[in-house]
Amino acid sequence: MIYYLGLGGNLGEREKNIISATEEIKKIFGVKLLKISSFYETAAWGLENQPDFINAAVKISTDLEPLKLLDELQKIELELGRVRKEKWGARTIDIDIIFAEGFQINSERLTIPHKFLFERDFFLIPLSEIFPALKFNLNGDRVEKILGSPKDFKIKFVACVDKNFGLGYKNNLLFKIPADMKNFRELTLNHTIIYGRKTLQTFPDKKILDSRRNIILSRTLKNVEGAEVVESVEKLFEILRADEKNFVIGGEKIFSELLPYAEEIFLTVVDEEKISDVFFPKIDEEFILKDTKKFDGFEIRNYLRD
Ligand code: ATP
Ligand code: CA
Ligand code: CA
Repeated sequence: MIYYLGLGGNLGEREKNIISATEEIKKIFGVKLLKISSFYETAAWGLENQPDFINAAVKISTDLEPLKLLDELQKIELELGRVRKEKWGARTIDIDIIFAEGFQINSERLTIPHKFLFERDFFLIPLSEIFPALKFNLNGDRVEKILGSPKDFKIKFVACVDKNFGLGYKNNLLFKIPADMKNFRELTLNHTIIYGRKTLQTFPDKKILDSRRNIILSRTLKNVEGAEVVESVEKLFEILRADEKNFVIGGEKIFSELLPYAEEIFLTVVDEEKISDVFFPKIDEEFILKDTKKFDGFEIRNYLRD
């Protein structure tokens, strides 16, 4: 099932709380985070005299029944420090199910679409960004797009795989094709590269790559000369720059963790089948194949988020 969730909060570090919520949503068993909207600063709705909110919407796919999903989302609200006081009052994070594709529900605990979907521009505007088929009229509320959503950071993936999307075997890459390595260097030079601990081990002398900003996403590494090490996706987004190209270069775990935030993929597919123990994540229907460049023995595919 495809659900659209509305996220919002007006206490604490608002953008960070939204990203933490999407990170927790990603961790719900059986949930796949497919898309995330821009972030919007919005006037409080229903109960005035409280700080502005940040709102966003996400698209997920899951087999979870609606009430089970609601349970999981409410657990996340509590984990992120939501305290229920007055109705529509200030909060760190609120996660509502605003829409589902193909069905509706009207029960005591749950109404889908959300009963105020069409009265709230802070739902409609982010939702329409990730669900363009939605037809609606705006209500004239104050909703302003801000910078700081993962979408704004131009996250691009670069990888080289075999026919089965294998990435590597026993901590080594599957291929070292000069033309592909040249392409990788040209793409990433003078930009930012993001990778995990195991990928660092595959570099020459286990040293960072020159002439690029190196960011390592790792919960165990501490200091790596010449690199910035971050322990979480939230921390990563705190240090990324929106005016930079940010290339995620592996490995398997980092790719699957950051795929929901990627806007573009450069995938070199070699026309061979190798033994692999790590794989590139399945590229979901959110991406369209925009271009394929064919070379002798491999091709470079360029996917863009729809
Ligand atoms: P609003 O529902 O008007 O946006 P709110 O989000 O501040 O207000 P909460 O205190 O978070 O209200 O939720 C109150 C109850 O709303 C929840 O316990 C839940 O059972 C119910 N509810 C009904 N429909 C939905 C929905 N689509 N998504 C989330 N909660 C819902
Ligand atoms: Ca709400
Ligand atoms: Ca709610």
